[in-house]
Amino acid sequence: MSEAPTEKLTAAEIAELRPDTRLVHGGILRSPFAETSEALFLTQGYVYDTAEQAEARFKGDDPGFIYTRYSNPTTAMFEARLALLEGAEVARATASGMAAVTSAMLCQLKAGDHVVAARALFGSCRYVVEELLPRFGVTTTLVDGTDLAAWQAAVTPETRVFFLESPTNPTLELVDIAAVAKIAHAAGARLVVDNVFATPMLQSPIALGADIVVYSATKHIDGQGRCLAGVILCSQQFLTDHLQTFLRQTGPSVSPFNAWVMLKGLETLPLRVERSQASAVALADRLAGEAKIGKVIYPYRADHPQYELAKRQMRGGGTLVTFEVDGGKAGAFRFLNQLKVVRISNNLGDAKSLVTHPATTTHQRFAPEARAEMGISDGMVRLSVGLEHVDDLTDDIRRALKAV
Ligand SMILES: *Cc1c(COP(=O)(O)O)cnc(C)c1O
Repeated sequence: MSEAPTEKLTAAEIAELRPDTRLVHGGILRSPFAETSEALFLTQGYVYDTAEQAEARFKGDDPGFIYTRYSNPTTAMFEARLALLEGAEVARATASGMAAVTSAMLCQLKAGDHVVAARALFGSCRYVVEELLPRFGVTTTLVDGTDLAAWQAAVTPETRVFFLESPTNPTLELVDIAAVAKIAHAAGARLVVDNVFATPMLQSPIALGADIVVYSATKHIDGQGRCLAGVILCSQQFLTDHLQTFLRQTGPSVSPFNAWVMLKGLETLPLRVERSQASAVALADRLAGEAKIGKVIYPYRADHPQYELAKRQMRGGGTLVTFEVDGGKAGAFRFLNQLKVVRISNNLGDAKSLVTHPATTTHQRFAPEARAEMGISDGMVRLSVGLEHVDDLTDDIRRALKAV
């Protein structure tokens, strides 16, 4: 026992495999123990045979590992596997989705630069764009992401980055990624897309023209509510020019344990997303027929205002459904409090179905007018559909609606 076992699939052969197969076999680094399941390398550092080898490794002439803040075999497997799915040249994992967003922005910006971002962003992303970046002399403009003319109008000679999320939280509005990418590139800017809500199974922003894709792997990639992690996917050039040194020197590294959980999560991602999405489709239709429910928002329903765009840029409507319960905040609270299978939580992408009331939680800090501008009403509820039987979810929801 001294050498690693022979891998029968070459990298080129793996790249030809279908996505589901790549998510099981991609990126494997087998140790000399020939383990079936990917190994968890809980190590901070690595030993060198000789001083010469250490020197060569630091110079970049020897491809091994140096320190887990830089890279780790378990983390590298997770990164390689997700890059294969996404169709990105490289991926880098981080400690959380927010570490990924913050690093993707800071690594490429400097004082004097300008950022254009869609207004409908995850709350912490709004903080980074609106409050953090300006402290360091980066100016920002927020636009209605669905309005292509607004993106164009916001461009200045200093614009370096466009940033968006699609579908948006919680109103499931879509931004035309290909069209915004064109505007960004004509302005000499890069487009960063937060692809959490669509998941890598249902939307491929890089194929649509995005330069950088970020994930909170905390959501569907883990999928069972255990660990936090994030991922940045980009070109080799962007990694070399901007990201690599930033990550190595500032240290938002993921724990190898968390990376291992995410790596194993990728193996079942297609099954989980398919199942949750099938239930979300069924629930959206059933909810639309309920008396005490007003608007139902789901990107793959024909009544979604951007249904055509959804069909064009997504491969499915996703695992979230947003709807309005009669009676405003009081009605929504009565409904949430009566649910038993579906639990109240601001998280999403879990095996367990989770419901949240955005106006009083995730979007509480916005003034009522700002919420109205974002389309978030007091009766609005966001449902992240899990892996339970869809009929149990339906029964739970119908029973809770009786209290409204
Ligand atoms: C959760 C989430 C994030 C942040 O991810 P963390 O892993 O919680 O840091 C960013 N963007 C979106 C759209 C999210 O849903």
